Amino acid sequence: MHTDLLIKGESVAGAGTPTPVLDPSTGETIATIAEASPEQVDMAVEAANEAFSTWSRTPPAERAAALLAIADAIEARQDELAELESLDCGKPWPSARDDEMPLTIDTFRFMAGAARTMTGSAAGEYVADHTSMIRRDPVGPVAAIAPWNYPLMMASWKLAAPLAAGCTIVLKPSEMTPLSTLRLGEILRDILPAGVVNIVHGAGPTIGDRLINHPDAEAITVTGSPATGMAAMRAAASRIRHVHLELGGKAPVIVFDDADIEALVATLRGGSYFNAGQDCAQPCRVMVSDRIYDRVVADTAASVGEIVIGAPRDEGTEMGPVISATQRDRVAGFVERARETAEVAVGGATDPRSGFFYRPTVIANVDNDAEIATDEVFGPVVTLSRFSDAEDAIRWANASRYGLASSVWTRDVGRAMAVSARLRYGFTWVNTHGVGTPEMPWAAMKGSGTGCDMSVYALDAYTSIRHVMVAHQ
Ligand code: NAD
Repeated sequence: MHTDLLIKGESVAGAGTPTPVLDPSTGETIATIAEASPEQVDMAVEAANEAFSTWSRTPPAERAAALLAIADAIEARQDELAELESLDCGKPWPSARDDEMPLTIDTFRFMAGAARTMTGSAAGEYVADHTSMIRRDPVGPVAAIAPWNYPLMMASWKLAAPLAAGCTIVLKPSEMTPLSTLRLGEILRDILPAGVVNIVHGAGPTIGDRLINHPDAEAITVTGSPATGMAAMRAAASRIRHVHLELGGKAPVIVFDDADIEALVATLRGGSYFNAGQDCAQPCRVMVSDRIYDRVVADTAASVGEIVIGAPRDEGTEMGPVISATQRDRVAGFVERARETAEVAVGGATDPRSGFFYRPTVIANVDNDAEIATDEVFGPVVTLSRFSDAEDAIRWANASRYGLASSVWTRDVGRAMAVSARLRYGFTWVNTHGVGTPEMPWAAMKGSGTGCDMSVYALDAYTSIRHVMVAHQ
């Protein structure tokens, strides 16, 4: 198992505190990995700063070639990387390989193309006898912070876009799930020039804080909780820096009475409990038209009650554990408080086996202002509530502080378009939920963040628009 950091092109052991990494399906320690020391964080940022002067001037075709080489190298080792991910996060095998690796690999391939196709206004004589042109130049070294729910995929989002833009990076994976990202560091060491990507390991409030506050980091990008997003904004404010945030979510699912109920229930079973519900776009707040509400509750509870939970390698496992005992207890706390005013239709309990398991849960008759309906649980819990007037559903959805994913279920195209247009969410699916592709933005609004990952728009966070004007005489 590779446990070294990547600093200035060298694999080096952390010089900080040794920290255990746990297997969430057993609670046992997989490895003990030394964190970076504060000095190592500084060395990593300095290496990124030094490498910036050459990487930022490396022609797009060469940057694209490096991104393609990274994609190929990950693809060649996808079994090994998915194995680490499955072990570290408790993800069911082979879902860890078949559901997550393709998007991880394709993100690098897409950004290889995007590196070569940046657009801007046409050069021209907007003032007589002066030629103006737009440049989009890389902002500088990026401090990147990733979460634990999809460690390698989130690392790919944090790396591919800034590399395409010409930025250098120091990436910190979550201290709970560093294994696949540290291994990726070893792979990148052999592909990229020294210092272009650096990877450090360690806790958020110490090592993460040091990284985002380093004076040489010109941009900060975070995928994580709103609290970490706020820490990044404070760090950015202290020196005026670019900041890009992809934070939590609480996705509303608005179901009209002409919806395909079978398709909806299949999507909830597949999407809401995928990754044990630890997904920022999880379809979790289901608002159903009065006329079909009872059937949707009955069908959803019946289907979710059949989900097979188990260890990653157990035959037939559909859902694994949540990431930690703390997360399991947090989910249980939400459900216990919800019981006071709503009805647990299925689940609602921890699982007796060792490891951090919580049963797939459906909670019905939920008030729209209840904590369980408005706060991000980040676990295998779906709430159902009813509406009779579409205006109410739109109002409740838009009242949320979150603004990431949403979906609308109806066979009426006009209604789908009208409701989608009014939802204040970074993305809205119609008659599906959770389908992502690198060409399209994973976009955030309101308390869910700023800007987006994936798509050509992800480059906005890592490039500055510049104007160069040449006088003819
Ligand atoms: P978290 O904020 O606790 O941790 C995320 C990362 O931030 C970790 O690497 C952590 O070490 C680091 N961190 C924590 N405090 C920090 C600080 N003060 N300074 C610098 N770094 C710090 O979040 P999490 O629990 O790992 O992830 C779950 C959250 O992430 C959920 O809210 C989820 O919705 C969100 N998420 C969002 C997206 C998206 O695309 N919008 C994707 C995945 C996860």
